[in-house]
Amino acid sequence: MIVGVLALQGDVPEHRAAVARLGGGRTVRPVRTPEELAAVEALFLPGGESTTIARLLEESGLWAPLERRLREGLPVLATCAGLILLAREIERGASGGDPRTLGVLDVTVRRNDYGSQRESFEDGVTVDGLDGGPFPGVFIRAPRILRVGPGAHAFARRGPEVVGVRAGKVWGLTFHPELSGDPRLHERFLADALGEG
Ligand code: GLN
Repeated sequence: MIVGVLALQGDVPEHRAAVARLGGGRTVRPVRTPEELAAVEALFLPGGESTTIARLLEESGLWAPLERRLREGLPVLATCAGLILLAREIERGASGGDPRTLGVLDVTVRRNDYGSQRESFEDGVTVDGLDGGPFPGVFIRAPRILRVGPGAHAFARRGPEVVGVRAGKVWGLTFHPELSGDPRLHERFLADALGEG
């Protein structure tokens, strides 16, 4: 299986390392061009700066091909800024300047919503059906999911708050499983992408 990591900006090496650590005959490749996108069977959208990634998606000519592959059912695991890029709606912040989004996950998010004093923290996340106890959620200038619409399914929570949603094979997380050293979510996503999950 050829797995891609969108490699325009953000924590790309961490996702590549997380997939490489899983083994299991998966090849992980950076995706920077439409040709590279065409070759992958599943894609990770990393965390980073969603405005920058959105701009680079347009400049690299990847926006339209990515939109098309999403429509065709490409499995995608998006973390943090990646989730923002997939959201149907961003609640407009006072600062403005929010990115254009691909809109495939029926959620409304608010960027950087955990406050400047707590830009970064770790907390346990409960993931539906995941064995082995709470998942260590690493939150870095994370967006908050304000609304989950009928087109999306909440499957990960921090206390009462939704921090992970999916729509078919498209997953969006406000936290960073690639930074926690816990392989369970990458593993489960890829098993699901192959139709095993
Ligand atoms: N704050 C970033 C944004 O709004 C996301 C942060 C992250 O991906 N760790 O794009």
